[in-house]
Amino acid sequence: MNDVVIIGSGCAGLTAAIYAARANLKPIVLDGHEPGGQLSLTTHVENFPGFPDGIMGPELIENMRKQAQKFGAEFKAGAVTEVDLRQRPFKITAGKETYEANSLIVAAGASARLLGLKGEKELIGRGLSTCATCDGYFFRGKPIAVVGGGDSAMEEANFLSRYASRVYLIHRRNEFRASKIMIDRARANEKVEFVTPAVVDEIFAPEGVVTGIRLRNPETSEKREIVLDGVFVAIGHDPNTTVFRGKLETDENGYLLAKHGSLTKIDGVFVAGDVQDHRYRQAVTAAGSGCMAALDAEKFLEEHKG
Ligand code: NAP
Repeated sequence: MNDVVIIGSGCAGLTAAIYAARANLKPIVLDGHEPGGQLSLTTHVENFPGFPDGIMGPELIENMRKQAQKFGAEFKAGAVTEVDLRQRPFKITAGKETYEANSLIVAAGASARLLGLKGEKELIGRGLSTCATCDGYFFRGKPIAVVGGGDSAMEEANFLSRYASRVYLIHRRNEFRASKIMIDRARANEKVEFVTPAVVDEIFAPEGVVTGIRLRNPETSEKREIVLDGVFVAIGHDPNTTVFRGKLETDENGYLLAKHGSLTKIDGVFVAGDVQDHRYRQAVTAAGSGCMAALDAEKFLEEHKG
């Protein structure tokens, strides 16, 4: 029997683990299918407070992990396949293991959608990014592409035009899912060039760093190559909430709903990080919400002793 089980080992889960461990709750942290979360997929992080020279994402995550371990957090490999939240202790199954918990912190994160091209994942941090706020700064004076036709793509194209010399906005259809105001703003931006309808068939990276892309017009099959330094994939995120469907409340996009900070409709179940946040999605906000969830879990356990 465990006081606290934390699902997810990204920024939110690890911060929750540090707080819970320091409260002597000996948390069990289930790593999930992407240990370290999205930070482990980025390179230089320059906006996490406390690091004036920046820090590499994987190093930041490793530091948090060590910090949690130092205070007694225990890490277990494996992704959660089933949860039973009908009564306490809650039961959490990850592969062959089932854990019982008096309280549960869900910090399972969200995964940025990728295009599904061969070798794409290996290019993350080497010219390919899913986070404009994190990586835009590295493309000062360079041509880049943003792929997607939703509000995120429009927002990122505008944001990135502060740095990039040119922004190609690439979308597979001529119609956009984005709101009119966001489209108008991007269209009015003279650095942004709309390329539609266009599908990215290949990302060139002969030496492991992005140098260009090949596009195909899905209507005419015409091909076009663009030389550039960066590709920002902005085709949406998927919250990792499949196992919680029907068990915890979600919004229409599947993100878990939190009330009063980290609380859910089930007493003793708390949520933190990107699994409940599609608005801010920053390392520091995820860390903050992980802290809140741990404090809420601690208070809950104190009130439900024995
Ligand atoms: P989204 O609205 O789901 O749009 C995703 C876009 O990516 C769509 O245009 C889609 O094309 C395209 N796409 C999906 N899979 C693709 C693939 N495999 N290859 C190529 N293109 C693909 O996602 P989002 O833009 O991240 O927005 C998510 C939510 O957050 C929305 O509700 C949005 O309004 C909100 N948001 C709001 C703001 C704001 O108001 N400031 C900013 C960002 C996000 P199709 O259209 O052809 O399906």
